[in-house]
Amino acid sequence: MKFFTTLFATETNTFVSAPTGLGSYEEYGIFRGDASTRDATGYGLYAVEVRKQLAAKGHETVESLLAFAQPLGRTVRSVYERLRDEILADLRDAGPVDGVILVLHGAMVAEGYDDCEGDVISRVREIVGPGVPIGVSLDLHCHFTQKMLDGADTIICYKEYPHTDAFERLTELIRIVVDTAEGRVRPVTAVHDCRMVGKWHTTREPMAGFVRRMQAAEQLPGVLSVSLGHGFPWADVPESGAKLWVVTDNDPALAAKLAEELGRAFWDLRHETAVPSLSIEETLERAMATPGGPVVIADTADNPGGGATSDSTFMLHAVVERGIGNVAFGGVWDLGAVQLCRDAGVGASFELRLGGKCGPASGDPIDLHVTVKNVVEAHSQGGLSGVRTPMGPCVWVQAANGVDIVLISKRNQVIGADLFTGLGIDLTAKKLVIVKSAQHFHAEFGPLAKSVLYVSTPASLSTDFANLPYRVRDLDYWPRVEQPGRPHHMAAPGELYTVDGRKMHLQRSGPAPASATQPTIVIEAGGGCASPTYARLQQALSAKYPVIAYDRAGMGWSEADDAPFDGERTAHRLHGLLEAAGVTGPIVLVGHSLGGLLNRIYTGLYPQQVAGVVMLDASHPDQFAMYEHPPESVFAAERVKRADFQAGGKPPPEQAPIELLFADLPQVIRQLKALYTPEALDTTLAEVRGLPHVARQAGASPDLGSRPLAVLWAKQPQALPPGADPAIADVQKRWPEFQEAHAALSTQRRLVCIDGAEHMTMVLLPPLVQRVAEEIDGLMVQIASGTRR
Ligand SMILES: [Zn+2]
Repeated sequence: MKFFTTLFATETNTFVSAPTGLGSYEEYGIFRGDASTRDATGYGLYAVEVRKQLAAKGHETVESLLAFAQPLGRTVRSVYERLRDEILADLRDAGPVDGVILVLHGAMVAEGYDDCEGDVISRVREIVGPGVPIGVSLDLHCHFTQKMLDGADTIICYKEYPHTDAFERLTELIRIVVDTAEGRVRPVTAVHDCRMVGKWHTTREPMAGFVRRMQAAEQLPGVLSVSLGHGFPWADVPESGAKLWVVTDNDPALAAKLAEELGRAFWDLRHETAVPSLSIEETLERAMATPGGPVVIADTADNPGGGATSDSTFMLHAVVERGIGNVAFGGVWDLGAVQLCRDAGVGASFELRLGGKCGPASGDPIDLHVTVKNVVEAHSQGGLSGVRTPMGPCVWVQAANGVDIVLISKRNQVIGADLFTGLGIDLTAKKLVIVKSAQHFHAEFGPLAKSVLYVSTPASLSTDFANLPYRVRDLDYWPRVEQPGRPHHMAAPGELYTVDGRKMHLQRSGPAPASATQPTIVIEAGGGCASPTYARLQQALSAKYPVIAYDRAGMGWSEADDAPFDGERTAHRLHGLLEAAGVTGPIVLVGHSLGGLLNRIYTGLYPQQVAGVVMLDASHPDQFAMYEHPPESVFAAERVKRADFQAGGKPPPEQAPIELLFADLPQVIRQLKALYTPEALDTTLAEVRGLPHVARQAGASPDLGSRPLAVLWAKQPQALPPGADPAIADVQKRWPEFQEAHAALSTQRRLVCIDGAEHMTMVLLPPLVQRVAEEIDGLMVQIASGTRR
């Protein structure tokens, strides 16, 4: 039988602007059907292996193109199309074939092509027709797409990171393709989308165990292959993220069952499998405190294997500034520095400026007095699975304190220890070995390291996966979303800022402040309420004023907080959020219910910032001493309702009024549905538990002085449900007294009962909201004119 094979691969970082051009492929050599002979120790080893294995079974191999480029930005469109079309032309020229083996990456993106592999596979399918098996080998950092799945018979990706099992997977693929061609098996595939973005090392538990679990599943009768595609986080393409797929021999039900089972098992490990990452400070502290050496430090953010430029200097600056000696550092991609050192020759000693050249992510260049210790003109490094990687002319320079730096000419991540030792650097004698690599270094450096640390530097490959700047990819993934995959999921409609290390959300509306003294209205929600609850009030106020509604931690789109509810922390966070959002002028706080207590605490802490206060049917510090909060069984039942709804069930009947209330504001209905979650209820419960504490904090806050204050309240008592705590009725009886007490907090106050309003309707029903907005307008005018009443 006759099999066709090709290798066409790169991993595209779409956040990098520099494109991958023809030169990027030529750097590794483009081979046209002869890689197995001309590049037998490089990537051509794949073709050697395919030929060898097929020949052993008595089959013929038609070898097509081999083209690989080091990751960078999108491949130039014409370059991609030209190389692709060469493969397709070879396939046509080969005449009828019995099977196709495509060695691809799975994360190649070109201008105009978000899914290059899907494109290649589907075009190959057009040529060979439906009956010829197409097998595809992918890197585990792949985007597994529907188009790939539709076009191929079998897709397998590596299981190990570092990718030590590439040839085992290739062998497995060849076996399945040959078995399919010879009619022994009929591969079918099922996929489970894990909705996760991240990086997972298989060198440690529990990921090492998960790999064993996948391998064990492959031993089940009828299972041909199990793959977990980790995805490549730094690509903004529609179908990215971690996916688990299972290939069975014509048993779709088994494939689906296993894919879901294993995909869920991987999801369940999410809190334990994250890659540990330390700041530069922490890393060096920990490394220097480690007895002996070498401590190997991975500068993961500057990994050229993910598209970084490998010339960032953050770690080198840190080492030099601290006077740390006996360090090996590499490889720094700096062609100019390499040339100066080659020209100067071994033994030359001079002031060299190196690194920090390619862009802001590279940091500043560093000036060091160095001695050229060695130059190797055609250096290379050992790689995974025996593939040697050319590094071009490489130089070892030594700076003060025995800081040995490797300069490279081909931009490639550190994989083999011989990148250093081949130049003459003895790694075992070093205190620190700092490598520009995310994980592939681990196969060779792990065994000689006293310990391995992963440092987080400000270079290209941010590992803040929750905040990667995706525009195309949908944002419904973990860790951006705690529970992705919900039918009502919605990305934050407003603005997100990191405050106190956690994302906080606000929705801004109305005109920008006309002057530095015009106040912004800030709405503080009632207990358990999120920003959209106040959408109508916000809409009414923003006709004239700048208005912000925000979400406290754990409500709306603000990240949850494990600590108990605390008024002062809540106030400090709001202050930080406003600062982050650029709200530097005065504010008027509008607090509903519990929000009134929080307003008092905020004003006590930031008196200069608060120009006025509005209390909307606000809680009084004394009321919480009068009754116990609702039993937690009530919350348990509500939790079940919400979980059902978020799993795709119908909304409970008590949610129906929301549709009517906001019929003219459909985006608010969507927002409120997205927020009707069990997690929001957990926050509500935490707020309820913290009420007595927050009430005491509010009661201990200073009064409002002569700050303009509007106390707007609802006379009509809310109807109590049967069986309600009778103490609540006592609170209702004292309500007018409480409101008067609020008003007494300021010498410039207005106390207004909103006729016909109830506690919630005064912020929800249009005519009542209009009344409230008019009163607030009056207060705003009073503030603006500085009038006294
Ligand atoms: Zn990879």
